[in-house]
Amino acid sequence: MPRHHLEKPSVKLKYLSTALATALCVAAAGTGLAQNSAPPVQKVTATTPAPKLVVMIAVDQFSADLFAEYRGRFTGGLARLASGIVFPSGYQAHGATETCPGHSTILTGNHPAHTGIVANNYFDLSVAREDKRVYCAEDETVAGTTSKSGQYAPSVNHLLVPTLGDLMKARDPKAQVVSVSGKDRSAIMMGGRQADELMWLAPTGLTSYRGTTLSPAAQQAGTAIAAAINQPRPALTLPADCTAHDIAIPLEKGGSVGTGRMARDAGDFRRFMASPEADGAVLATAAALRQVRKMGEGSGTDLLIVGLAATDYVGHGTGTEGSEMCIQMAGLDRELGDFFARLDATGIDYVVALTADHGGHDLPERNRQNAWPDAQRVDKALDPEAMGKAVAEKLGLPQPLLYGDGGDYYLAKTLTAAQRQAALAELLPRLRAHPQIEAVVTREELEAHSISKRAPDTWTLMDKLRASYNPQRSGDFIIALKPRVTPIPESGIGYVATHGSVWDYDRRVPILFWRKGLAGFEQPNAVMTVDIMPTLASLIGLAVDANKIDGRCLDLLSGPESSCR
Ligand SMILES: [Zn+2]
Repeated sequence: MPRHHLEKPSVKLKYLSTALATALCVAAAGTGLAQNSAPPVQKVTATTPAPKLVVMIAVDQFSADLFAEYRGRFTGGLARLASGIVFPSGYQAHGATETCPGHSTILTGNHPAHTGIVANNYFDLSVAREDKRVYCAEDETVAGTTSKSGQYAPSVNHLLVPTLGDLMKARDPKAQVVSVSGKDRSAIMMGGRQADELMWLAPTGLTSYRGTTLSPAAQQAGTAIAAAINQPRPALTLPADCTAHDIAIPLEKGGSVGTGRMARDAGDFRRFMASPEADGAVLATAAALRQVRKMGEGSGTDLLIVGLAATDYVGHGTGTEGSEMCIQMAGLDRELGDFFARLDATGIDYVVALTADHGGHDLPERNRQNAWPDAQRVDKALDPEAMGKAVAEKLGLPQPLLYGDGGDYYLAKTLTAAQRQAALAELLPRLRAHPQIEAVVTREELEAHSISKRAPDTWTLMDKLRASYNPQRSGDFIIALKPRVTPIPESGIGYVATHGSVWDYDRRVPILFWRKGLAGFEQPNAVMTVDIMPTLASLIGLAVDANKIDGRCLDLLSGPESSCR
């Protein structure tokens, strides 16, 4: 009699982790640790020695909503993490819920107000170069650069506080810290200044800071990744539990989203990045580097940092509720499962923390079809350049008057005090009267407000904006859009949905911890991503000055014992 299996249809994708492991010839190399003589699982208690390896994973745009929606369907790595310690209501507590600020909170224990990473891009009208916009992870003093992608010099300079890896290195220079990500700002903001190796995906495979040479293992990984990018990818088979998502949503500028299968041409890096293949490449590289460097096999604790960007690219390109995100969730789950299986095979005692840099929000066109009829796109008149031009013409002020990106608006430095006053007197009421604007807050108002110590689900709008405010980098005033106003004026292929708002769909992220032998529990009350760093530091016996961070240690031991020292 044949046995009847309840098989979960899988995504037909040649998963890169296996391909890469083969290319790197490290999969079977062993670690020197006996694989067959693993001791029985010991229950982790307050006296259990520190884990040998901390694995920090950030999944870009992995909102608490996505985690909740797919939680019951995970069977791989995310199912394992969901059986561990689960904070389903984690918060990137600050208001400017963008990638760079979000990643800067995870391993520093600090809000963007203190990390200095207030946005992906901010304006510094005093910089010498013509482009006054500054990318969060660049060195704008390098000659010939601009803030545009591909034209800046990647740098950690703007990060104002140390990361967990920096503190581990300061305690023990032999501690190894490696950071691998899909995006430079993710690798850099989590990796910090002292990482032994730090890299991100590029059309050529892997890359790092200008002038640095990748290690031989990273070069080998990069070559394998480039080869994968240069292969075309046929359409993937839709998993059976994704069929309900498979509905075409027409876009204003033509085309549609919602029924994609992730097919791509050879060399199409953008589509490579918006697929589980990109996450597989990062995870395979991280696993290979761990193995080559023997991380987790020394006397102390090492730190492996992983940034997975594909979920974000899928969210921006096609929204959060289509076939594309469903395929991505299945792929992410599987890639993480493969990665953990490789770590398990080493016998190393490792702890995993997983969170996201921000949440996400579906495109208005689908929200309108799915019971949210007033979902909108932002009015073009709110564009800082357009608004500055209109006000300058009305008041006879010099142009350009106003700069901005995201919620931060900056007035030209050339204005006299009287001109500045006149500009604000015209701009602020105009903005406040706009039907899509929730609030406009000035830097003076933010400076008079202190950073909230309350639980992040009770924060006021001022609390959120204050946690994103840094006097050297933030705008002269900051605007917050009303809920469900998407700050992309028109929908077109490639960029239809986003995050960045002060609202909980962009602030709430899962915070998950797993370690073999560590009893799982669920804590639905709100905690913050700034709590992750002190939690991990305590687990590895690293003292952190509570006055220098915004987070607190989360006790990962249920019962009367505590993992917080
Ligand atoms: Zn992001």
